[in-house]
Amino acid sequence: MVLQTIQKMVIFSNKSFEKNASYEVFNSFESFIESEIKPIGFWIANDFNDNYLNILKNIRRSNWWYKYCFSEDSINDQLLDGNLKIDQAIDRCILSEEKIDKLRFSLEGLAASEKLLVYLFLRESLKIFPQFNLHAPKLYTYPIIELLSDNQNDIDWYQELIRRNLLAYKKLIDRVRVCNKCYSAHIYFIDDCPNCKSVDIKRSRLLHCFTCGYVAKEEDFIQGYERTCPKCSAHLRHIGVDYDLPTAQYACNNCGYVFEEPETIYRCMMCGQEGSPDKLNIQEFYSIEMTLYGREWLLLEQKKIIFSVLNESFKYVSLEYFQILLDWFMKLHKRDNSFSFALILIKFDNIENIIQFYGISQSLEIYREFARRISEMLRNTDVVCRDDEYKLWIFLPLTQKKGISNRINELIQNIQLEGDVKIQINISEKYSSDISPETNIKILMNNLDKKND
Ligand SMILES: [Zn+2]
Ligand SMILES: [Zn+2]
Ligand SMILES: [Zn+2]
Repeated sequence: MVLQTIQKMVIFSNKSFEKNASYEVFNSFESFIESEIKPIGFWIANDFNDNYLNILKNIRRSNWWYKYCFSEDSINDQLLDGNLKIDQAIDRCILSEEKIDKLRFSLEGLAASEKLLVYLFLRESLKIFPQFNLHAPKLYTYPIIELLSDNQNDIDWYQELIRRNLLAYKKLIDRVRVCNKCYSAHIYFIDDCPNCKSVDIKRSRLLHCFTCGYVAKEEDFIQGYERTCPKCSAHLRHIGVDYDLPTAQYACNNCGYVFEEPETIYRCMMCGQEGSPDKLNIQEFYSIEMTLYGREWLLLEQKKIIFSVLNESFKYVSLEYFQILLDWFMKLHKRDNSFSFALILIKFDNIENIIQFYGISQSLEIYREFARRISEMLRNTDVVCRDDEYKLWIFLPLTQKKGISNRINELIQNIQLEGDVKIQINISEKYSSDISPETNIKILMNNLDKKND
């Protein structure tokens, strides 16, 4: 790859460096931004060690969020890409630029979740570790996820990427109990009286006289230097022979209740919720890695990326399972035609044109919104499936009311784009009442598919 004059490594330092066309030195992030240099990466010299985190935060929140950032010294922070000599750092950044070229979509205006995927894609073997943070509501955060978040109050969006198997949990790092109301890990435990819930309880040793069987607080037996039973006046010299100490006991100063174990409750410091500790939710923190599927997902054809977005909003099943389900239901329908159903096929005609016109990020939003609206319209018993040819099948069991395709068309009109290029979809539908008894699932799906060719 040819480095254009404006594409350079950006060094942060107050030290003087020999002149070199491949890098430029800045003494602040602001002065770098003003320069309008297109960085291939960043390098923080050791005189900026105290300031590295600030610089790093600025980078991750800028348009250059995905670029490598190396340090001269070894600074133990997973947000940095390691410490390298400047020449090596430049080489690594050039390799990274080649990798970026493989992504066939613009890195501008990506959602936080897409940014995280790209970030991990460019850092092949990176594992993100949860970092202990006393001030974090759940005591652990993933620093890079926090930095890439648009909203600091919403940093759990990465779980969606795990659910979609683009990222995966690897190693369990810690297990935290959190409030079952507000999910804060800032909780503490209190022992109280099981009878009146007062915290004014005291542990007191009980003593058991073997001679007469009397049990009372230990202090009741003490007379001067000796232990004497207040009831039978026996001298209690040897534990195990004259007396023993039953298991630790508690007495409540409020209600006088004597008990073996106090009750333990938790109290949330954030919302005040109280309760039994076994009611607490458990949150586990793992290291996170990108899956192979996640990498492939990023390298896929843009059209496929867009189409896969549709999956996020639907509980979709495989084509095979979809066919089994439909086949079974058609048989039910033959036996008893009150088992009505509808089958809908949606074809996306111009995904490529939409991408070309609006760009990948906006297109993602467009189809995501579309999928969201359709999923709102569906009942949770409806089943969605997509096949490899950009077709979305929807099976609606126990449906008689016709006109579903009209409603989908209306929905499209509501979110139709302002620009010259409009979303085009093709919808066909079939209701069980219009299906002849001889039809099987293959014929049914083929007919529906051919209908709008
Ligand atoms: Zn009590
Ligand atoms: Zn006694
Ligand atoms: Zn709480």
